[in-house]
Amino acid sequence: MALEVSQSALLGLDFEELSCFAEQHGQPEYRARQFFEAIYSQRLSSLDAISTLPKQFRSALKEQGVEIGQPRNHQSFYSGDGTIRYLFAMADEETVETVWMPEGDGGESGDGSEAGDRDWERATICVSSQVGCAVNCQFCLTALLGVKRNLNAGEIVGQVIAVLNDREVDLERQRVNIVFMGMGEPFLNYAQFMKAARLLVEGVGIPESRMTVSTSGIVPRIHEFGGEPVRPKLAISLNAPNDQIRTSIMPINKKWNLELLMHAAREFPLRNRERITFEYVLLHGVNDQPAHAREVVELVRGIRCKVNLIALNPGPGIAFATPEERNVRNFQSMLVGAGIPAFIRRPRGRDIYAACGQLKRTVA
Ligand code: SAH
Ligand code: SF4
Repeated sequence: MALEVSQSALLGLDFEELSCFAEQHGQPEYRARQFFEAIYSQRLSSLDAISTLPKQFRSALKEQGVEIGQPRNHQSFYSGDGTIRYLFAMADEETVETVWMPEGDGGESGDGSEAGDRDWERATICVSSQVGCAVNCQFCLTALLGVKRNLNAGEIVGQVIAVLNDREVDLERQRVNIVFMGMGEPFLNYAQFMKAARLLVEGVGIPESRMTVSTSGIVPRIHEFGGEPVRPKLAISLNAPNDQIRTSIMPINKKWNLELLMHAAREFPLRNRERITFEYVLLHGVNDQPAHAREVVELVRGIRCKVNLIALNPGPGIAFATPEERNVRNFQSMLVGAGIPAFIRRPRGRDIYAACGQLKRTVA
């Protein structure tokens, strides 16, 4: 897999790397702080806008082809429910999708991070971590693309910065959640995803408690993630009540089965008041029956967790159907009845293909 795109972009460099960069250019040490603030906190998009840098230095950098490197907004799609789906083009013209949900999607329910009273105090940005995805879950449109390449940290942070700028968000006054639940499997691009998460915390100023990463179950990385000093919250795409069903809809289950996955979940060191989120995509007649809910209760017993139920968002080439509303409700009440917090995630932006599992490059 080809990994890095050209490093003429400053976006994605951490403080230490910016210090080296300044030093290499014969600049004083304090330039690193100026760059860091300009790129991540002020979210400036061009060298010209960094007024703290001497003009001469700026032009020298431009001559060398150095730029900040925010992704280009290739196209945006507006949903009737306020959701916006952005198609961002990277330096090599690969595109990924990023979704702005002005009122969240209910996915943050029950984890202590929800809401204020103005509707968009709880806006959520859903970020991609790879161009496409290699995991091949049978119900997911992104899977149909295969994986083209990893995104680097700058391209991941860049999506957030570009959306914040487009929406003119003032993070001092407005609250934004980040979910790493767009295209790709973040834990198969672990180092760059983690670097991006740290830059978002330390540079952009989004607290780690307002970020959630979702994994399809890359078990070794779940263990590693638990040891990170700064990290988002963890969501695991469970999606099935037993190995037989899970393997049939998520081939990754052959590599790391439910025993290994639930072991990793049990071992996961939770912070104060933190819970693991289990996502569960309900597929009509496949995993949405009362017997399945009972199995899920047994699986997650003893884990401080909540379950986010997602009714399948259908799409072309997907062989499953959306569950009946009453089965979704019933599934939820069975979990809740067994003492497991369970929430139904509202589909956001279905009309523009922005909902879970619908992200797919629709424009060349
Ligand atoms: N690759 C990661 C994160 C991105 S997918 C992961 O799989 O966890 C984010 C969520 O969307 C996952 O929980 C996934 O199970 C869910 N999803 C995928 N396709 C979907 C679909 N067609 N309808 C509803 N949810 C879907
Ligand atoms: Fe990849 Fe997640 Fe889609 Fe599975 S659900 S194919 S892991 S993006």
